[in-house]
Amino acid sequence: MTKLFALCRLLAMSLLLQSAAHAAAPFARSSAPGFYRFMLGGYEITALNDGTLELPVDQFLTNTTPQKVDDVLAEDYLQSPLETSYNAFLINTGAKLILIDTGAGNIFGPRLGRLAANMKASGYAPSQVDEIYITHMHADHIGGLTTDGDMRFSNAIVRVNRGELDYWLSEANMAKAPEGNRGDQKGSYRRAMTIMEPYIRAGRVRPFDGNQELSPGIHAYQSAGHTPGHVGYMIESQGSRLMVVGDIVHVAAIQFEDPTVTVSFDSNSPLAEQERIKEFTRIAKDKILFAAAHVPFPGLGHLQTDKDGFRWIPLNYSAGK
Ligand SMILES: [Zn+2]
Repeated sequence: MTKLFALCRLLAMSLLLQSAAHAAAPFARSSAPGFYRFMLGGYEITALNDGTLELPVDQFLTNTTPQKVDDVLAEDYLQSPLETSYNAFLINTGAKLILIDTGAGNIFGPRLGRLAANMKASGYAPSQVDEIYITHMHADHIGGLTTDGDMRFSNAIVRVNRGELDYWLSEANMAKAPEGNRGDQKGSYRRAMTIMEPYIRAGRVRPFDGNQELSPGIHAYQSAGHTPGHVGYMIESQGSRLMVVGDIVHVAAIQFEDPTVTVSFDSNSPLAEQERIKEFTRIAKDKILFAAAHVPFPGLGHLQTDKDGFRWIPLNYSAGK
């Protein structure tokens, strides 16, 4: 009996020791590699995450009040500063590899700039990218083009709206702008010039005008407001459509429900508001799949009209095929 008791004690102690050892494992902290893949007709789409940043959204949303923003966030179990996704989208047409936006590179610190690593984890190398389509020239969308002044995408042509390119490369616009790094401030021009320079020097920037097809099934659509030459890209294959909207929405929890809410770093907030409502309405009516840079990763879903605003329906999860 005593022997049995001793044996039980020994067993209990070893179990305790085991569980203590498990509890001592360090927190892993990071999530899975930031890519999400699905087929759109005959095209393969990979959403790539560049990382996240905590943004003081109650401070930069305009046409509302900080209190209102905090209240709506709280309804969704969120708060400001809000951890915000930075997404880009890679399209393999079968003939070409096209990247829409590039993330921030090393401009905003180590929480961003993960796009290239996530692209590699997803099975593609930056050197395989044939073309890069830019939605607009804010640093969190073009910063990933270069690393330490060198072209990160050594074989790619960069396509950008001519009006957008001219606006941000204009020394005269920069001279007029106030100091700072947000929106239409001097730092945004300076960054855009520095980032684009190696591609311009190598003859790899090909501007385009207006709404047009850049590649079979991929059209650029102008949606000026957030920046003067802001564009979205409609991707269509075998009757399926995906609209990569760029920055017509920054805070999903606020601006779907109330698309009249704007951001302080819009170039032209009333125009940005108008474009947001127009695009949301069209995308909801035509049941087009929606992809956005700052909607929680992978930033993909559908919109439905709802009361005075819109309801966001995230894409159903797929493990891929
Ligand atoms: Zn952005």
